[in-house]
Amino acid sequence: MKTFYCFLAALVFFISDLKAQSTDNYRVDELGKGFWRIQAIQGTLSTAYLIAGSREALVIDACSGQDGLTDIIKQLAGSKPVKLALTHGHFDHSGGIKYFDEIYVHKADTGLLPKNVDVKFIYIDEGFVFDLGDQQIEVISIPGHTPGSIAFFNRDGRYMLTGDGIGSTSVWAHISNDPLKVYLSSVRRLESMKNLIDAIYVGHHEQEKVLLTTQYITDMRIAAEKVLDGTIETQPYQSSFKNGRQASVGSAVLIYNPDNLR
Ligand SMILES: [Zn+2]
Repeated sequence: MKTFYCFLAALVFFISDLKAQSTDNYRVDELGKGFWRIQAIQGTLSTAYLIAGSREALVIDACSGQDGLTDIIKQLAGSKPVKLALTHGHFDHSGGIKYFDEIYVHKADTGLLPKNVDVKFIYIDEGFVFDLGDQQIEVISIPGHTPGSIAFFNRDGRYMLTGDGIGSTSVWAHISNDPLKVYLSSVRRLESMKNLIDAIYVGHHEQEKVLLTTQYITDMRIAAEKVLDGTIETQPYQSSFKNGRQASVGSAVLIYNPDNLR
C-alpha cells in the first residue's frame, strides 16, 4: 500500500509539474488530455505542440532551435516514439529540426528549411493522417503564408493547429509568391470546417490576446474577399522584412502584397 501511495504522490507531482513548467527557453502548458503547448519564451516567441496518443507522439513545429526542446519532448512523450511535423518551413518553426533524424513537411517548403542539417524529409500533403493510436491527426493544405503551409486537425479533439498559415491575430500573406486569391481559398477551406472546430492553436501563441476561434477565420475570409473586391480601406504596412498593405476586419489583420492579388 505504501508503494501505491508513493506512486500516486509521484504521479500527482509529475502531472501538476507539467501543467505549467518553465525552462530558460520554454514554458510548457497542458491544453488537454495528452496535448501540450511548448512555448518559446526567448527570441521569436514561436510555439510548438505535442500530442501524445496511446501508441506514439506527434510534435508539431520545432521553434527556432533553442536548447532544451528535446528534454521537454522526452519528458512529455515518455517512452513513446516521437515524430516531428512542420506547419511550414520558416526558420522560427524549423530551427529545431537539427535535433531530429527525420521530419514530416510539405514538399513546397523544402527550400525554406535550414541548410546543412542532416535530416531526412518525409513529404506530406492534404489527406495524410498521423495515426497516434487513440488519436488521428489529419493534414489540411493551406497555402498562402508559404506555398507548403499545412494545418493539423484533430477531429475528435475538435481543434486545429495552423502554425503561421492564418497568422496569430495577423497573417503575413505578403511574403509568399502565392497570390492573395490562393490564401483566400485556404481560409475558405478552413471556414467550411468551422462546425468541427472549437479552438485554433497558432504558431505564435504570445501574440494572442484570447484563444482564437472560428470567428477569426471568418474575419480573415471577409478581409481577403474585400481586398480582392476593392471594397475595404487599407493602410500601408511596414516591416524590416518586407513591406505590404494591411486590412483589418474584426479580430483579424491581413497583410498582403498589392502587386500579387490574383
Ligand atoms: Zn512563418
